[in-house]
Amino acid sequence: MEHNTSNFIRDIIIEDLKTGKRDHVMTRFPPEPNGYLHIGHAKSIIINFDLADEFNGKTNLRFDDTNPLKEDTEFVESIKEDVKWLGYDWDGLFFASDYFEEMYNRAVLLIKKGKAYVDDLTADEIREYRGTLTEPGKESPYRNRSVEENLELFERMRKGEFGNGEKVLRAKIDMSSPNINLRDPVLYRISHATHHNTGDKWCIYPMYSFAHPIEDAIEDVTHSICTLEFEDQRPLYNWVIEECEMASKPQQIEFGRLNLTNTVMSKRKLKQLVEEEFVDGWDDPRMPTISGLRRRGFTPEAIRAFVRELGVSKGDGAVDSRMLDHFVREDLKLKVPRTMGILRPLKVVITNYPEGQVEMLEAEINPEVPEMGTRQIPFSREIYIEQEDFMENPPSKYFRLFPGNEVRLKHAYFIKCEDVVKDENGNVVEIHCTYDPETKSGTGFTGRKVKGTIHWVEATQAVPAEFRLYEPLILDEDGEEKEDEDSKNFLDHVNPNSLQILNGFVEPNMKDVKPYDKFQFFRHGYFSVDPKLSTEEKAVYNLIVELKSSFKL
Ligand code: ATP
Ligand code: MG
Repeated sequence: MEHNTSNFIRDIIIEDLKTGKRDHVMTRFPPEPNGYLHIGHAKSIIINFDLADEFNGKTNLRFDDTNPLKEDTEFVESIKEDVKWLGYDWDGLFFASDYFEEMYNRAVLLIKKGKAYVDDLTADEIREYRGTLTEPGKESPYRNRSVEENLELFERMRKGEFGNGEKVLRAKIDMSSPNINLRDPVLYRISHATHHNTGDKWCIYPMYSFAHPIEDAIEDVTHSICTLEFEDQRPLYNWVIEECEMASKPQQIEFGRLNLTNTVMSKRKLKQLVEEEFVDGWDDPRMPTISGLRRRGFTPEAIRAFVRELGVSKGDGAVDSRMLDHFVREDLKLKVPRTMGILRPLKVVITNYPEGQVEMLEAEINPEVPEMGTRQIPFSREIYIEQEDFMENPPSKYFRLFPGNEVRLKHAYFIKCEDVVKDENGNVVEIHCTYDPETKSGTGFTGRKVKGTIHWVEATQAVPAEFRLYEPLILDEDGEEKEDEDSKNFLDHVNPNSLQILNGFVEPNMKDVKPYDKFQFFRHGYFSVDPKLSTEEKAVYNLIVELKSSFKL
């Protein structure tokens, strides 16, 4: 793969290889298996795999499973599937829990060096003692326990002799450090909980900031790429590597998280949307999860192109979500067949077309890609058009069907509206037209012009179809920028019209579509066949993106 987008992480790697600081490149993608991956994770995946790839390096997939209460194998499996679907193949597949024994031994080493101690303060007390940005912290009364006592207590913690929260292991660094992360951070906590990998083997679990650098070092990761919120933890990361005497010295480098307008991405919020049934599962096509995007019809190619275009920067302002739409349009434009589908059907009877006659018309599958060939579509006396392509009393500049007006039927004939049939409530239920046999598409007819071209589907052979149209799930343009103050209220911004279900028709040649088949429906947009809701009788088409947008790259 070739990607030349320049970025500061790439520059660091180039420099490291040039100066001999590194002789290889090793990255990792380290998800916590406590939810499904989202488009933000895709950014991290793509950056890590692409960078290693460019320098003939390797990338591990490593599950950061240090919190047994929130993690589950369901998430492990979905994450593996999503990474593969994005087009990446990891080198090693590891779990933080694979290293629990080694982490324990490193913690024992810290204790022996006088760099860690067992503390009996409660979580609340620890928080209180920690101090603030302007005030130094206070040392715990247990801070000066002897090495022997600490070793004994830590072993007893492991053996399960204490209850949750009764004791913790803390690093002994500096309670007055201006960096709060260095004020004796907790390294281990007690949690009597069954772990999805290690079962009941452990009842003490390492904290992320202790575990992560050790995991990276064990795997000989060279560049440990993470998001900006870990910047303040970098000194602690380096402290752990040094004091635990890890042979390998990974370097932590931070980049800006991806935020999208009209999108929430934190797993906690996504989980809430699922659990409170605002959506129908993690893979609901409205979700920014990889599984949701896949189900909706987005392609890995589009997601990769989008992320690569964004590049890597230190900023984390919200990106216009329509930019992702732009890349899916670009990807699908030349790949997928074009076809006609009627989302809101209105019956048209062509009164001068012979009853019982059906003729087959030829149409290109994709006019921009002639090699894709042609398809046959039936035409007869009865067709469906879109309700919105007819108006009884149109405003000026309306060039579609209205009484007395003539339009072109795409791939077929000119038809002229002669009459309108209404039900007892005055609603238009059918319109009557005449066609002009001279105007058949492809015959080079130049007798006269019409201003409007509309799409249609022959009525007797039309295949019923369900269409699902989507709007952004979240109406707040800022996406997640206001994270903290707003995080409780994001549910107020859920769009009540994010899903619209319509029943219409598609061309007869669409009878045997398969899940994930994608099409451009003429004048509507790109759609993908839903893998869960489609049945033998009726396919469900998810709107991926509309054809046009005011967004400019
Ligand atoms: P969330 O905040 O959404 O719950 P997380 O950071 O807790 O996500 P992890 O499973 O720990 O999720 O993330 C795995 C990797 O993906 C981490 O390296 C993390 O920095 C990165 N990542 C998570 N969200 C984003 C994002 N929005 N943009 C870029 N990278 C992200
Ligand atoms: Mg995390």
